[in-house]
Amino acid sequence: MTTAGRGRAGARGRERPGREGPTRDAAADPTASAEGEPAVLSGTEAAGGRKWVYGFGDGRADGDRAMRDLLGGKGANLAEMVRMGVPVPPGFTISTEVCAYALRHDGAYPEGLREQVEEGLAGIEALLGRRFGDPARPLLVSVRSGAPVSMPGMMDTVLNLGLNDETLEGLARETGNPRFALDAWRRLLQMYGDVVLGVPHDRFERALERRKREAGTESDAGLDEAALRALTEEYLEVIRAGAGRPFPRDPREQLWGAVAAVFTSWSNRRAVRYRRLHGIPDTLGTAVNVQAMVFGNLGEDSATGVAFTRNPATGARELYGEYLVNAQGEDVVAGIRTPHSIRRTAGDGSSLEERMPRTYAELAQVGERLERHYRDLQDLEFTVERGRLWLLQTRTGKRTAAAAVRAAVDMVNEGLIDEATAVGRIDPAQLETLLHPSIDEHADFEVLATGLAASPGAASGKIVFSADEAAEMAEAGEPVILVRRETSPEDIHGMAAAQAILTARGGTTSHAAVVARGMGKPCVAGCKEIDLLPDGSGFRVGVATLRRGDWITLDGSTGRVLAGRVATRPAELKGEFRRLMEWCDRFRRLGVRANADTPHDAGQAIAFGAEGIGLCRTEHMFFDEDRILLVRRMIFARSESARREALAGLLPMQRSDFTGIFHAMEGRPVTIRLLDPPLHEFLPHEGDDLSAVAAGLGVPVFELRSAIARLAEANPMLGHRGCRLGITYPEITEMQAQAMAEAACDVIRGGGRVALEVMVPLVGVARELELQAGVIRRTIDGVLADRGVELPYAVGTMIELPRACVTADEIAREAQFFSFGTNDLTQTTFGISRDDSGKFLHVYLAQGIYAADPFAVLDERGVGRLIRTAVELGRGVRPDLKVGICGEHGGDPASVTFCHRAGLDYVSCSPFRVPVARLAAAQAALAETGAEARAVLADRLAAR
Ligand code: PEP
Ligand code: MG
Repeated sequence: MTTAGRGRAGARGRERPGREGPTRDAAADPTASAEGEPAVLSGTEAAGGRKWVYGFGDGRADGDRAMRDLLGGKGANLAEMVRMGVPVPPGFTISTEVCAYALRHDGAYPEGLREQVEEGLAGIEALLGRRFGDPARPLLVSVRSGAPVSMPGMMDTVLNLGLNDETLEGLARETGNPRFALDAWRRLLQMYGDVVLGVPHDRFERALERRKREAGTESDAGLDEAALRALTEEYLEVIRAGAGRPFPRDPREQLWGAVAAVFTSWSNRRAVRYRRLHGIPDTLGTAVNVQAMVFGNLGEDSATGVAFTRNPATGARELYGEYLVNAQGEDVVAGIRTPHSIRRTAGDGSSLEERMPRTYAELAQVGERLERHYRDLQDLEFTVERGRLWLLQTRTGKRTAAAAVRAAVDMVNEGLIDEATAVGRIDPAQLETLLHPSIDEHADFEVLATGLAASPGAASGKIVFSADEAAEMAEAGEPVILVRRETSPEDIHGMAAAQAILTARGGTTSHAAVVARGMGKPCVAGCKEIDLLPDGSGFRVGVATLRRGDWITLDGSTGRVLAGRVATRPAELKGEFRRLMEWCDRFRRLGVRANADTPHDAGQAIAFGAEGIGLCRTEHMFFDEDRILLVRRMIFARSESARREALAGLLPMQRSDFTGIFHAMEGRPVTIRLLDPPLHEFLPHEGDDLSAVAAGLGVPVFELRSAIARLAEANPMLGHRGCRLGITYPEITEMQAQAMAEAACDVIRGGGRVALEVMVPLVGVARELELQAGVIRRTIDGVLADRGVELPYAVGTMIELPRACVTADEIAREAQFFSFGTNDLTQTTFGISRDDSGKFLHVYLAQGIYAADPFAVLDERGVGRLIRTAVELGRGVRPDLKVGICGEHGGDPASVTFCHRAGLDYVSCSPFRVPVARLAAAQAALAETGAEARAVLADRLAAR
């Protein structure tokens, strides 16, 4: 029965797999009974029973890249590189199954592990002609974690295992470099003390800093042999005092201690948190890689570094990376010394290309081979030991959205991958960052607060607290950020004038968020950390108070509120991006439209590839200063004729709005929705200048007040809105239908084309649609007959209420199309107000009650089920029923995948999300074909 070396009882409160003690009967465990594969290396031949250890070295390996689940990413790729003949120090991988076994068996290891590890060690020893613990020619090993899914920096590593007083002297003699040996010893003591024995890191750091001060040096490299010897003596004491026991001199005890610590690190707090954040199951476990050490700190002909086969920031095809001469791996990562570029850039002779040209050429060649082999950008770790290059890791390199697009398109041009694979490589969510300016992360900045990342992009401006102020200052040429508790349709002009919007309340589908996304403006919503002063002169955040006119910068892509003006980088729509989008269009089945209310938005939507407008919210046209008075007159009208008079004033304005949009859309379908919000939204609030409004309307202030009170609703989202407005005031619907028809006639007569779809909002009962469709058809047909114009048009409905979903067959008898308004449908299905969810959503998310914000990511199990029901019922009575979605979910990649699978015809989203939807739709379609990208896509879709 195998037991692990002693662990780190109580250290940092971790659990300890691999602690001493009997294991349960391994035969009773299903993983213990399966047959293992025969080993390639003699040293890792399974000692009976199941194979736990997989060797690699000298051109042969038990594993390969396909065995990621078993060997972890690092182990599988080390094996693959060895098979390819890439120079990799020999070693072996303890499989993830051992970690899983230990997790299930209270830290015990399975039978046979110890023997297999011994065989693995023997294999390395045989290849290198060294022995673990041999004072003459000591073998030193590293122990590193490596999970099936990359979890960078989350788990532990220990280097230089195998050193003790005797092997230390042996290493010094053998290398002729006692200082190097002592430095390796110091590093082992520090890492082992911290990682395995749980002695706080800063105790070592303090001792090191003191020695450096005494030696008058700022760098570790400045410590001479005597100083290092004294430091290591001190470290041994620090360990004895901190761990309550001495540092283990037995190399095998060291090895098992390190193995146990790496397995334990799977369950450390940061790793668990990382897995929660990225949806990685806890049961996967990590592998452990035990590998012969190679040293980048053996002198000026030694080095260590990281390299990317293409530039991860731009995607340019060039070896990119950093390295340090005479250093060990952690020095590069820790940022203690400033690394130099690998490639000649500065021309000061500091690059690897200049200092070690032969090694550089070899590295470039290995990088090229690995990239061709993996057919993707690789991120490499390497060490040069006395002029000899060793690869310690290769993995898929993380990259910016810009680099992802460029590299994918370039690789297609180079014949490395096909177009489907290129499309599958790009993360749709990441793509959005390409379309807006972004924060220059290299700039200096201070984060004041963080809210919800409601609309991406970054912008700076002076803070203002009212829409009018925003409009005035913008008019005067000042960039402004509109800060509101929450916004309302009345704030539209201020939002349009502002560079970005910050709200203290509201969620990702609050008014501010929806409108900002539509306008393509950055928005941080629901920022609870800011506290607006009651007098409207500023806000408090932490200990600071910011006043009107102070500069801030919003990063709507991350939700950060930054102090002052922070440098941003503009959006770039480059050739590769366009090409990639064209490939997407070839693969996707779903149509992609945009939600747009103005000719400008419509133009933007087309530039991003929208095939039509899926939602034109007409109310946004009512808030202009010259129109709102007419809307208010209509509201105040005491009779139908007075109402018609006010509406007649609005008609030409609506007509010109529609004409502009039809022109911009050049015959693409345009879905225009009838007026939707409750009327009180058009009235001023108490606290506004009521006398001016009353004077404009020609009514006494008290009458205005009483109208505000009369129209106030307890639940406006469930009140007198949607088609209920048109049912109670059919003349509103009439005016809107007339404006649409007249605009269409004007455009058609002018030689243009129009595809009109009229949409009725918030229908819950078929009869509502029948009544509204009657008004619409009568009005439009009347105009067309008068003008002698032919215009095929469609009348359909939004599906935003659960009742509409479950009676969709009845509704489809009248509706020529359905468009799911999933903002309202989510609101009404969950019974949560869109505007108030911010108050508790974070708790629900933290507790896992909701997997994601249901207003951002469509809830497939609830809302999705209603959608599927409605599609099925609707198409049951009208097989050619066109079905789309125009809620905010239409631009969310996971929700787009759902829409594809539910058989919708199109999604409609904010113009800036159109490319995201095109890509997501293509990926959803590709995942169903036999395309090569399928496995990658399936993973990506599963992660959504
Ligand atoms: C919806 O409810 O999803 C929708 C698109 O309409 P609105 O957001 O305007 O209510
Ligand atoms: Mg709605």
